Amino acid sequence: MHQSEILTHLGEEREKYFQAVSPPVIQTSNFCFSDLKNFRKAFQNELENHIYSRGNNPTVKILRAKLAALEGTEDALVFSSGSGAIAAAVIAQVQAGDHIVCVESPYSWTHALLTQFLARFGVTHTFVDGRDIAAIEEAIQDNTKVLYLESPSSLTFNLQDLKACAQLAQKYGLVSLIDNSFASPIFQQPAKLGIDLVLHSGTKYINGHSDVVCGVVCGSKEKIFEIFNSEQMTLGSILPPHDAAMVIRGLRTLPLRMERVATSALIIAQYLEEHPKVKQVIHPMLPSFPQYDLAQEQMSGAGGLFSVYIKAETLALMETFIHSLKRFLIAVSWGGHESLIMPVAGFYGIEGREDSELPWNLVRFSIGLEDPAWLIEDIEQALDKL
Ligand SMILES: *Cc1c(COP(=O)(O)O)cnc(C)c1O
Repeated sequence: MHQSEILTHLGEEREKYFQAVSPPVIQTSNFCFSDLKNFRKAFQNELENHIYSRGNNPTVKILRAKLAALEGTEDALVFSSGSGAIAAAVIAQVQAGDHIVCVESPYSWTHALLTQFLARFGVTHTFVDGRDIAAIEEAIQDNTKVLYLESPSSLTFNLQDLKACAQLAQKYGLVSLIDNSFASPIFQQPAKLGIDLVLHSGTKYINGHSDVVCGVVCGSKEKIFEIFNSEQMTLGSILPPHDAAMVIRGLRTLPLRMERVATSALIIAQYLEEHPKVKQVIHPMLPSFPQYDLAQEQMSGAGGLFSVYIKAETLALMETFIHSLKRFLIAVSWGGHESLIMPVAGFYGIEGREDSELPWNLVRFSIGLEDPAWLIEDIEQALDKL
């Protein structure tokens, strides 16, 4: 299906809703029945029928249909956060005694899910360097059930060869999952390379306006129904109808926004790479990126994120650089309309943060929808302070 068809028409069922061009928000907790025959019929499938909004809501369903189609999967679920989606999708695959192989340094709360949460229930894990397919295979044990990927991964942007990983998962009977938040379905569609479940923090590019927290799981009808009927219904991490309507609106411009941030980020990354006060730029679409060929092969773009090592002699100078940036907000998260910086230096002095082991001259940029020349002007004057 054409991307334009998905984003403009798929799932909207306008004839049911007064031919409204924008879908109405069906802000209801429950649905009623004309008689018991219909009541009984509805309970045969709580995901498809209208009973209660923890299970199915028409506004949420429009969003689910569009997301599944964008990733090229049969179905999708949406959650109240990306972490909620990741936790539900992973927990659905394991029981006590099982083992998970996961790429090293995944998103911080995914790391906590494995090391703090699942460890309490007898599920073990091994972190591996995802760049090394042989290392992944070596980490697989008899009780391994899950291969968890994040490509590109947070901060370091390390890639995994998704086709090879999917084949490995198939060979050993593992369920493969990937956090695809960074590339978005516009630049990378892992299900088409054989990955079983594709996860997103919808908070980032999918919503794209820094005003909703949400999560996404895409996969086969069978796998999605399993997660729905167990983890989503029991843990109850659902996306409310109003938030779903906001995300549908955000999604309309996803291809436009991705194109804009990808172009701008590459322009800015190239500028930084040439700058004498910059030690290194990490961006998957720069020829200097160690896995550049793989990036070209499995991604059609890399979004608006990149990391930079600044040549700052002292932490104080690094702080001067950060505080001199006036057109970038200092914040966590990313993928919104606005440009952000997330300096590792910000985690210095916070106990128990893994990130604080990274060098303090590392800063992650998330490029927004602003004019890249206007952003470069700001970076230039801040680098001049060094
Ligand atoms: C933000 C983020 C998450 C978590 O999503 P939330 O919506 O904040 O719960 C997961 N993975 C990645 C890569 C993220 O950046």
